[in-house]
Amino acid sequence: MPKIIILGGGLSGLTLGYFLNREKEDYLILEKEPVCGGLMKSIKKKGFTFDIGGSHIIFSRDQKTLKFITGILGNNKIKNRRNTKILYKGRFVKYPFENGLADLPLEENFVCLNYFIKTHFARELKKLDKPKNFEEWMYYNFGKGITEKYLLPYNKKIWKFEPKDMSLEWVSRVPQPPMEDIIKSSLGINTEGYTHQLYFYYPLSGGIQEITSRLEDNQKNSILKGCEIKKICKKQDKWVVSTSKGNLECEKIISTIPLFSLADYLEIPEKVRNAINNLKYNSLITVMLGLRNPKLNNLSWLYIPDEKVLTHRVSFPSNYAPENSPDGCSSVLSEITYNQGDNIDKMSDVEIIERTIRDLSGLGLIDKKEICFTEIKRIKYAYVVYDLNYEKNIQIIYNFFKDLGIGLCGRFSEFKYLNMDACIKSAGDYIKNNFS
Ligand SMILES: Cc1cc2nc3c(=O)[nH]c(=O)nc-3n(C[C@H](O)[C@H](O)[C@H](O)COP(=O)(O)OP(=O)(O)OC[C@H]3O[C@@H](n4cnc5c(N)ncnc54)[C@H](O)[C@@H]3O)c2cc1C
Repeated sequence: MPKIIILGGGLSGLTLGYFLNREKEDYLILEKEPVCGGLMKSIKKKGFTFDIGGSHIIFSRDQKTLKFITGILGNNKIKNRRNTKILYKGRFVKYPFENGLADLPLEENFVCLNYFIKTHFARELKKLDKPKNFEEWMYYNFGKGITEKYLLPYNKKIWKFEPKDMSLEWVSRVPQPPMEDIIKSSLGINTEGYTHQLYFYYPLSGGIQEITSRLEDNQKNSILKGCEIKKICKKQDKWVVSTSKGNLECEKIISTIPLFSLADYLEIPEKVRNAINNLKYNSLITVMLGLRNPKLNNLSWLYIPDEKVLTHRVSFPSNYAPENSPDGCSSVLSEITYNQGDNIDKMSDVEIIERTIRDLSGLGLIDKKEICFTEIKRIKYAYVVYDLNYEKNIQIIYNFFKDLGIGLCGRFSEFKYLNMDACIKSAGDYIKNNFS
């Protein structure tokens, strides 16, 4: 019987395992799917490689973690310079939007700059009320022009949640440029925003799943795949995990699976169950297209705030790494967020693929005659949505699991907007604080 059981074999579970392995601890990872990787799984079909959990690139403010990830990949990596745009009223505007004001029609450029400057001084002179929700935060930091032209429509579209009902816990990740950059951008002097992501890494071959696959390499005997958990309960000082592969006993459980699933396996007080059920998230559909076109464009990815277009972001995996498509072909990965049970969820796979092709051809981004490959995936848990009750609910949940003695680590287990680097850091910190 293992000493420690890790629930889930995505990046967080595999990184926990990697560090426990290094500490020579006795552990077992339980993964319900036949393949590990979670949101970072990639499919390889007909010479194309697509990341099914949406566009993934490797970047981090934290150089140590970045080195860890690139180290895992060894030579199998490529460094790219971001070439990202926003498709605004048929124009390609440099990303982030506030760094691309000169790409707007002159009158709209002026509106954005004028409101930005007025808001800046009103804020400095303390004439503006502090923002209490995400919508107010956008007006407070960027002014009416940039907010109403881009930030508000785009954020409504990606979150599928009203920004006025979202809290500020996560907003530090939205890029906030200095005023000089906005003036330069408006005049057409080149500036870059979100600079720690300007250069990004990506696996040369195999897609983003290469990271989780390499993490698996040294711990294959400590992973049980296709393992369905049925129940978790405490027996004296041991945990008993009932699974489709039999009962397992252990001293310690660390969960990286969504809180909703973990709660289903346990006896939980009503207050905690309600707090979990009140957490908000959205889901994701990815539409993958292969095209018989050797070089579709030179873009990394493209944001589409227009609400009449289903997708909010399309990326071009063959531009991340040439091996992502066969010779003479390019690839497109379209992302569509939705809520369980909404009108998008009710569309069939065929309808969504056809709509995506129609939308992207209508925008002139692809020629539908060139399409030679289509695939679609639905991912239930994609983005954590920080609603106004988030902090209250998450504290109830954290306190409960702390008292119970089950560790929480990972994107939908900690229920935080964690990118790959943050998952790795969280797993490393957890091991350091509990096992080293
Ligand atoms: C659209 C999108 C784009 C992203 N882009 C980037 C990016 O560009 N750069 C970046 O750094 N990060 C990006 N991320 C974030 C990145 O995908 C996550 O940080 C990371 O994959 C989370 O790993 P995890 O192990 O915490 O969770 P998951 O990947 O969700 O892993 C959970 C694992 O648990 C398993 N599991 C679930 N339920 C059970 C159960 N009941 N029993 C057993 N096993 C179970 C799952 O199958 C899965 O393997 C993106 C995420 C999304 C959604």
